[in-house]
Amino acid sequence: MQFTDLALDNRLLTALSTMQLSDVTDIQQQAIPHGLMGKDLLASSKTGSGKTLAFLVPVVNRLLTQKALSKRDARALILAPTRELAKQVFSVAKTLTQKMSLQCTLIVGGENYNDQAKALRRNPQIVVGTAGRISDHLAARHLFLNGLELLVLDEADRMLELGFEKALENIHSSADHRKRQTMMFSATIDSAEVNYVTQLMLKTPVKINIDKVA
Ligand code: ADP
Ligand code: MG
Repeated sequence: MQFTDLALDNRLLTALSTMQLSDVTDIQQQAIPHGLMGKDLLASSKTGSGKTLAFLVPVVNRLLTQKALSKRDARALILAPTRELAKQVFSVAKTLTQKMSLQCTLIVGGENYNDQAKALRRNPQIVVGTAGRISDHLAARHLFLNGLELLVLDEADRMLELGFEKALENIHSSADHRKRQTMMFSATIDSAEVNYVTQLMLKTPVKINIDKVA
């Protein structure tokens, strides 16, 4: 299957083709159609299998094709466990959206807080970051999630191992559960910790487990 076989906005297809991406990976083939339909997702597949685009494609497609719920609030929030992982996701999101009128901002610990607050005042539609620093900006009212349409938890099990449970609960309760689509990726999806977050944050998710299906 190729990206062109999916019902994607032309601007997104152009961006993918510029990135020289044509064939989808297994996780992308399984996750993207559900993601495009607005379903909540709980997915697991091994490192290097292409999870970043499995969530970025549905995120960007939605932002391009649907009217924003709010002009001021972030439309998509993507959380990663570490600064480095957030930076990697941000870099793919930047490349994917560079020819589109969508702004992305990276919000991670260890970088200038005031610069981040300033960047958030420009109302980026896509925010990528780590849960702790995002939570700080929420508390300071630099970031508003009332109109959030998509929430992605990348490597959710690692976020929990690193102690981000409280920050995740805080983010969850700031972003209306009924209006938003949540996609969660995790190497393990059967631990008690992951299960707790799944129950709290996902609505009857589609479950995808590539390694076991194969
Ligand atoms: P994961 O998050 O599952 O570890 P990544 O999303 O980081 O995987 O992708 C791993 C590598 O595969 C990256 O270098 C990415 O550019 C590449 N990749 C992802 N999707 C495709 C695709 N459809 N075709 C070719 N390469 C891809
Ligand atoms: Mg990844």
